[in-house]
Amino acid sequence: MILRELCDAIGVSSGEDAVRDLIYTHIRDYVEDVRVDALGNLLAVRRGTGAVDLRVMAAAHMDEVGLIVVGYDSDGLLRFRAVGGIDARILPGMRVLVGPERIPGVVAWAPIHVNSSEDTVSIERLRIDIGVSSRDAAQNAVERGELIAFDSRLIELGPTVRGKALDDRAGCASLITLIQGEPFPFDLHVAFTVQEEVGLRGAQVAAQAIKPDVAFVLETTACHDLPEDPDEPDQTTITRLGGGPAITVADRSMVSDPRLVRFLAQTCEREGIPFQFRSPQHAGGTDAGAIHLTRSGVPSAVVANPCRYLHGPASVMNLSDFENQSRLLRAAWMALTPAVLERD
Ligand SMILES: [Zn+2]
Repeated sequence: MILRELCDAIGVSSGEDAVRDLIYTHIRDYVEDVRVDALGNLLAVRRGTGAVDLRVMAAAHMDEVGLIVVGYDSDGLLRFRAVGGIDARILPGMRVLVGPERIPGVVAWAPIHVNSSEDTVSIERLRIDIGVSSRDAAQNAVERGELIAFDSRLIELGPTVRGKALDDRAGCASLITLIQGEPFPFDLHVAFTVQEEVGLRGAQVAAQAIKPDVAFVLETTACHDLPEDPDEPDQTTITRLGGGPAITVADRSMVSDPRLVRFLAQTCEREGIPFQFRSPQHAGGTDAGAIHLTRSGVPSAVVANPCRYLHGPASVMNLSDFENQSRLLRAAWMALTPAVLERD
């Protein structure tokens, strides 16, 4: 299962090498013009039949959120900060893997016997315990600046999978599936991007290089479909697990091109593919936020797999949503023509 390989690989933002190598082994027989750019994006072209004259870009980000070592305490505990958006409240007790040697560690926490429920959790006050007892031993084991990943492996749970880094290895896996299938009517310019979680950085330079007429981003998105808390009447679902891939209407980084939103929804209706619109009032951004602002502007859309518990060690995604992500995009790309982007 490509998804399992991809999720279990470690690629915290700026350290995506292992993920990139893995993706390359799955696409190399299907693509041309493969290159790794200066930031580390993996760019390639899936040749099409040439029936449609459009430069189409498809992007999925390789990086995952994690932590970074910033210092040492005299007792050998590691100080760290977040790489990407992580809620510090999920960290105490978390198993982690530190640096390229994948040294096992745990985020230190006071046992419930002494802990006060009044304590607030802040990342500045947390430490990682790698089992050494002095600053020297910690410094010998781990360099400042080394990246730290969640220690978590993908498992199947009924119709769902649970694992770290589904954001966005699920999108990477869907894009690999699309590349490995029948060619599209146009050349598909693919970008497996770096550093999305720290500011959509890889996608920005990838789009500058590709110069697309239109772009599609394969992502995951937050799912908050659990029973509503009566104390939080404003809570909305964003997306629902099992409701189909989510078409983004708007997020903090972009308002999706309405022509593409309509085209994607019509494709689903025609093909009988379940889909949902991602609730537009929420925060969050994707690579499309950077891509659509490159050069003189790029009409862009996002198709995302709903995931519960994003940016944690145990995100949950429905497998039929995941399969329908690539089904939707395959059907859409087979039907895509310049007419879709014409103004009325
Ligand atoms: Zn993502």
